[in-house]
Amino acid sequence: MNKRLFRIDLRRLILWMCLFFVLLALANSLFASYQVQRETLLQNTLSVNRVYAQKLAQITDSYIHQSRRALNATATEIKAGANNLETFQNELEHTARITPRFNSLFYSNASGLVLAAIPASDRLKGTTLVSRPSLEALSIRKPLISEPILAPSGRWLILLSQPVYDEGGNYKGFVGGTMYLHQPNTLQTILGEHFYNNGSYTFVVGQHGLIIYHPDKSRVGTTYQNNPAVRAALHGEHGSMLVTNSRGVEMLAGYAPIMAAGWAVIVQRPAKVAIAGLRSLLWRTLYYSLPVILLSLLGIWWLAKLIARPLRELAEVASHIDNRASFNRIRYIKGWYFEAALIRKALLTGFSAVTTRIRRLHRETETDPLTNLVNRRGLESALADLKQDDGPLAVVMFDIDHFKNVNDTHGHAKGDDALKAVASITRETARETDLAARLGGEEFVVLLPDTTLDAAITFAERLRQNIERMIIAETDRITISLGIAHYPLHTDDMDAVLHLADMALYAAKKAGRDCIRVAGSNPVTAVAN
Ligand code: GH3
Ligand code: MG
Ligand code: MG
Repeated sequence: MNKRLFRIDLRRLILWMCLFFVLLALANSLFASYQVQRETLLQNTLSVNRVYAQKLAQITDSYIHQSRRALNATATEIKAGANNLETFQNELEHTARITPRFNSLFYSNASGLVLAAIPASDRLKGTTLVSRPSLEALSIRKPLISEPILAPSGRWLILLSQPVYDEGGNYKGFVGGTMYLHQPNTLQTILGEHFYNNGSYTFVVGQHGLIIYHPDKSRVGTTYQNNPAVRAALHGEHGSMLVTNSRGVEMLAGYAPIMAAGWAVIVQRPAKVAIAGLRSLLWRTLYYSLPVILLSLLGIWWLAKLIARPLRELAEVASHIDNRASFNRIRYIKGWYFEAALIRKALLTGFSAVTTRIRRLHRETETDPLTNLVNRRGLESALADLKQDDGPLAVVMFDIDHFKNVNDTHGHAKGDDALKAVASITRETARETDLAARLGGEEFVVLLPDTTLDAAITFAERLRQNIERMIIAETDRITISLGIAHYPLHTDDMDAVLHLADMALYAAKKAGRDCIRVAGSNPVTAVAN
C-alpha cells in the first residue's frame, strides 16, 4: 500500500481538524462582530446626523423668525416716520446697530426706488430695484425670503423682505435685508459650526434646490436636487438615510426642513469615514483572542497525542503479534478511553487464541500420531530446551529386534499394536520428567534429564525387561536392544549425545540384540544380558 497515505496520523488529523474549525469559528466571530459593529456605527452616525440636522434647522428657523421680526419692527418704524427720508435712513441704521444679522438693509418705495440703504458703500440708495426677488416682493406685497441670488456686485446673497403699509392700508414699499452667503454673518456662523471634526459637513439648500450654504463656498448658488435626503427635507420631512452623493461617495445623511424659509439642512458624513476605526478594532479583537486560541491549540495538540498514543502502541503490538516479547508490552499500554480499551482487550483475546492455536499446531507437528509420543522434531526442540538448562542428561535409545518378522508373521496391524504397546510401556517405565520419543519405524529414545549413568542403566534394564514380558500376539514376545550415552560423562557436546547413544545401540545389535550397551567405552560396555 502507498505509504504516503499514512503520512497523516491520528494526532495530526485531530490537530488539523481542530485548527481548521478553530480558525473557522474565529473568522466567523470576527465577521459577525464586524457586521454588528459596522451596523452600529452606521446607525449611530445616522442618528447623530439626524439629530444635528434637526437642531440646526430649529436654530436657523428661529434665527429667520427673529430676522423677520427685526425687519417687521423696522417696517413699523418706517411707516410711523411717514415720508421723511432721514427717518428711513435712521431706522435702518438703528436696526443695523441692534442686530448685526444683515449684511445690508434698504427701504424701497412701491415702485422699486430705493429711498434709504446701508451700508452706503453699496450705492444702492437712489437706484431702482431690478432683481427678481425684489420685483417679486413688490408684486406680491407680502413677507418673503428669497432663493440665493447673484447680485450685480457679484455676491451671492439672500433677501428677506417685509412690506410697509400706511394707516389706510396702502402699500408703500418694503424693507429688505440681505445676507451675503460668502461672507461672515450670523447665519454663516450657525451653519458653519461643526460639532465634530470628522469628515462630516453641513449644507443648506433653498426651496428650488439652490445651495445657500456649503463648506465648499464655490458650490453656493449651484443646484443640488438629485440627493434623496434633500428632496425629503424640501418636502418637510426629517430623518436620516444612506445616500450616494454626486461624486459616487456613500454618505450617511441626516436631514431636516427649515420651515420658516422652506429650506433643507443636510448633515452628512462619508460612510467610509464612519467605519474607519473598524479595521483596527478587528485587529485588536484578534490580538486579544490569540493567546486563548494558542493555548487551546496547545491543549488540543497534547490531547491528540494522548488519544493517539494507545492506538499507535496497540497497532505496533498488533503488527508483531507473533513476537511474544513485543506482545507483552500490551500490559503497559494504557487504554484510557473506551475504544482503546476495547481494542486492547480484543488484541489480548486474539493473541491468546492465536497462541493456543499455535501451541496445538506445535503439538500436532511434534507428536507421532501412532504412539502419541513426541516425534523427532519434538525430540529436537526438547533437546534444545535442555541445552539451555545445561544440566546432566542421560539418553537411552532402543530398537525392536527383528521387528520385520513381527509384521511378516502377524501383519502390519499387529505390528502397529506392538509399537503402541512398546510406547505405552516406555511411558509407564519413565518418570514424569523424562521424555519418550519415537524416532521412526521401531526405534525409540528416552531423554532422562538430571539422571546419573547408573540410574539410566537401571532404567534401561527395567524397560528391557518390561517389554520382554509383554505378549504381542499368541505366545510371541519381542525384545529390544538399547544404547545409552550420558552428558557430560561421555561428551561435553549435548548435540553429540544422541549420536553416541545410537552408536551404543548399534553395538548392542552387533552384540546379538536384547542387550544394553553404554557409549564412551571402547568397546562399548556390555551391561547385562
Ligand atoms: P533389527 O532391528 O533387529 O536389525 O531387525 P528389524 O527387522 O527390526 O530391522 P529392520 O530395520 O530391517 O526392519 C524394521 C521393520 O520395521 C521394517 C518395517 O516393516 C517395520 N516397521 C517400520 N515402521 C513400522 C510401522 O509403523 N508399523 C509397522 N507395523 N511396522 C513398521
Ligand atoms: Mg529393529
Ligand atoms: Mg530399526
